Amino acid sequence: MSRPRAEAVVDVAAIRENVAALRAHVGGRDLMAVVKADGYGHGLVESARASREGGATWLGVALLDEALALRAAGDSGPILSWLAVPGERYAAAIEAAVDVAAYTVDQLDEISAAASVAGRPAMVQLKVDTGLGRGGGSLRSWPDIVRHAGELERAGRIRVSGIWSHLAAGDEPGHPANKAQVVAFADALDVGRAAGLDPQHVHLANSGATLTASETWHTMVRPGISVYGLSPLAGGASPVPLRPAMTLVAALALVKTLPAGHGVSYGHTFVTDHETTVGLVPLGYGDGVPRHASNVADVAIDGVRLPIIGRICMDQFVVDLGAVMPLVGDAVVVFGEGHDGSPTADDWARAAQTISYEIVTRIGPRVPRRHVDTGTA
Ligand SMILES: *Cc1c(COP(=O)(O)O)cnc(C)c1O
Repeated sequence: MSRPRAEAVVDVAAIRENVAALRAHVGGRDLMAVVKADGYGHGLVESARASREGGATWLGVALLDEALALRAAGDSGPILSWLAVPGERYAAAIEAAVDVAAYTVDQLDEISAAASVAGRPAMVQLKVDTGLGRGGGSLRSWPDIVRHAGELERAGRIRVSGIWSHLAAGDEPGHPANKAQVVAFADALDVGRAAGLDPQHVHLANSGATLTASETWHTMVRPGISVYGLSPLAGGASPVPLRPAMTLVAALALVKTLPAGHGVSYGHTFVTDHETTVGLVPLGYGDGVPRHASNVADVAIDGVRLPIIGRICMDQFVVDLGAVMPLVGDAVVVFGEGHDGSPTADDWARAAQTISYEIVTRIGPRVPRRHVDTGTA
């Protein structure tokens, strides 16, 4: 039986087990599994389903379209969507019972207008910028935001179901920004409560803080990358057992021997110094394999590491087969769980000087996802 050119095999059992382990680690608090960007490349609906099975009480997405796709696929549990632009379809969010984020008074007004059309209150989670300097209401505007939200809540237009924030350095436990953000968040909560708000959900922790910082856990944690089995901590360390869910595999397309002194791939950035048997891997940056890993990253065949030689092209790259004598069609593991000596997404991230998030999320639509379930349940 021949294997496909390439596929990303996603083990939903790993997602389920990672979520269960993370939730146990935080003492059974609510857990919002972040499934934005097609579940970090693992498949939106499949990742969401496995997360729910593992005990995720909430799902988090960036875009309302992602939330609505989950509803269309039959997910009926709590979902928060947090990134909007003017003209956002808040009516559709209310209709679909999706919680939305608000960062500004103007957004609250837009949400409130949609609620009056819908004839029922919108569920809103107010986001405060406690130091990330990205999304969320600034600390300066926060008193106005919570005062306005309180008025709209008393008018029956919205229900403030949550107050939340996001960390700048959750993956660096000793970073001084963490302590400052924890304190700023506590203050922002006090300001919100003084304005009459009583949010049921209070959350701050991304994966890094979920793994390392109990003072950030509040009522709920909001992990993303760790759901997929990758740790954002230095060296991929994790106090919680995590198993990478995605394995990127290709079929070896060609085996041939090049003489000594032969250039390999565009620009001849690699030249053989002896007669070399090479293999052609039919994946490239058109599939999301980072060109920055040219001449640096490894793949594996039967657990044996093989270095990439020469530039990674749009559709293909070349590896030095060394003493390995594979057949065309054999499985080339680009990255995966790493248990058999194969590279991990973390290894690729180091080679390409990026983070594992980008390695898995950028695997493109030309690579089919195949979902498997190695669980016994
Ligand atoms: C992506 C994202 C997360 C998840 O972060 P990880 O580092 O992947 O755990 C949590 N909250 C917000 C607001 C995000 O954008």
